[in-house]
Amino acid sequence: MEKIGHFIGGKRVEGTSGRYADVFNPATGEVQAQVALASQEEMDAAIANAAAAQPAWAATNPQRRARVMMKFVDLLNRDMDKLAEALSREHGKTLPDAKGDVIRGLEVAEFCIGAPHLLKGEFTEGAGPGIDMYSMRQPLGVVAGITPFNFPAMIPMWKFCPALACGNAFILKPSERDPSVPIMLAELMIEAGLPEGLLNVVNGDKSAVDAILDDETIQAVGFVGSTPIAQYVYSRATAAGKRAQCFGGAKNHMIIMPDADLDQAADALVGAGYGAAGERCMAVSVAVPVGESTANALIEKLAPKVEALKIGPYTAGNDVDFGPLVTKEALTRVKGLVDQGVKEGANLVVDGRGFSMQGYEDGFFMGGCLFDNVTKDMDIYKTEIFGPVLSVVRAESYEEALDLPLSHEYGNGTAIFTRDGDTARDFASRINIGMVGINVPIPVPLAYHTFGGWKKSGFGDLNQHGPDGFKFYTRTKTVTSRWPSGLKDGAEFVIPTMK
Ligand code: NAD
Repeated sequence: MEKIGHFIGGKRVEGTSGRYADVFNPATGEVQAQVALASQEEMDAAIANAAAAQPAWAATNPQRRARVMMKFVDLLNRDMDKLAEALSREHGKTLPDAKGDVIRGLEVAEFCIGAPHLLKGEFTEGAGPGIDMYSMRQPLGVVAGITPFNFPAMIPMWKFCPALACGNAFILKPSERDPSVPIMLAELMIEAGLPEGLLNVVNGDKSAVDAILDDETIQAVGFVGSTPIAQYVYSRATAAGKRAQCFGGAKNHMIIMPDADLDQAADALVGAGYGAAGERCMAVSVAVPVGESTANALIEKLAPKVEALKIGPYTAGNDVDFGPLVTKEALTRVKGLVDQGVKEGANLVVDGRGFSMQGYEDGFFMGGCLFDNVTKDMDIYKTEIFGPVLSVVRAESYEEALDLPLSHEYGNGTAIFTRDGDTARDFASRINIGMVGINVPIPVPLAYHTFGGWKKSGFGDLNQHGPDGFKFYTRTKTVTSRWPSGLKDGAEFVIPTMK
């Protein structure tokens, strides 16, 4: 059985804690590897290693740091197929989707090539008599990232690329469900010229996370995962005086106005609701058609599309829309929520619970499910299902539709489909959600903008990647300087003002 250890000090090392977790191939249901779960001592050693390497890296000029990112981008492109295969084998998503996972991270590495420009400070000449004032952005030191299973390439890169480009050292604690790709990424960073010790991948579970949160060297923690853990990490990290940005779960609504192109809306819903088996934090899980006739027409278009979804293992290539869920527990949980929806009285128009994949009977597959007449009080409406299940909640008016995402506890993404600019503009302005799509179902901002949800979907005040990433991984120092020629006689006892 393959054993996956850690990546510390620029090389793969074996785990020494004696604790392991199973890594499944979700398509076959087989255990394909065991990943080491780090002890406190292993985490401490990785952090000490990172702390020793960081000062020289911070002193390396930003253009040279950026060149490592440039080379890293080349290597990601070179190894794209290999990375996608390893990702699909552990996660279960299709190969084209796995490539998308890598590419969305690669795009952040590309953005980080601009580090020399992004790290420039501000300067005011003559802020007072003979006084100049300027600011610098300096790295924090050693920082850490704790990431989820659903984007094992993209989210680690969203974190370590800006952190390293800013001159920090990084400890990555990836998901224990798909640990291979993060280590492959770390190897590529070394090949790209990153000095050893600056990017460490330490696998583990809660003990490894707690070791990060309690460590006094680590200055900042970036987390992505479910909301209860995001809240836990945020409160424990900030209580220990660390900077923290913690992104949580979601329940993304898409409103379909009566004037929308319903064919387009139905296609968008099927892709956004069922792609990656619904295991995306930006998946659309609630469709809100406005008006009875819009709802009836939408269901009529959606049902055959959901029934026709092609489900299969990633090895089937491009001929598959989505793969299995990540684990047997995830499959049982999602099917349980569908059972619950039926009990609560929602109308299950398409039932994918009985789906079985010939030749892959032990894989964690289920078919797409479509619910109609879901209401606000139902558990399936309140809970993030994180599976191939789309709920239709009917609304009589725009205001009633708007009120649904507005009053939901999550605030990651949302979308509206309409041909009316005035409605779209009103929606974008009034909605209390971090990422909004107008006739775009999954509005994931590109690398040079920032990504982050509101309400229970995000804790902390800076988003991921884009300019916010550079702010999060640096602190500002402001220097006020006056040279001797500007010195006046004697001491001044009154606070200087700019009058
Ligand atoms: P998860 O919360 O189970 O795990 C995330 C990370 O936390 C993993 O590294 C895991 O090892 C660690 N962890 C798990 N339990 C822990 C505990 N008790 N104490 C300390 N650490 C713990 O999330 P997941 O199942 O890997 O990912 C799916 C979730 O992530 C969904 O809720 C999804 O919406 C969310 N997500 C959010 C975003 C976003 O940007 N908002 C992006 C992707 C995924």
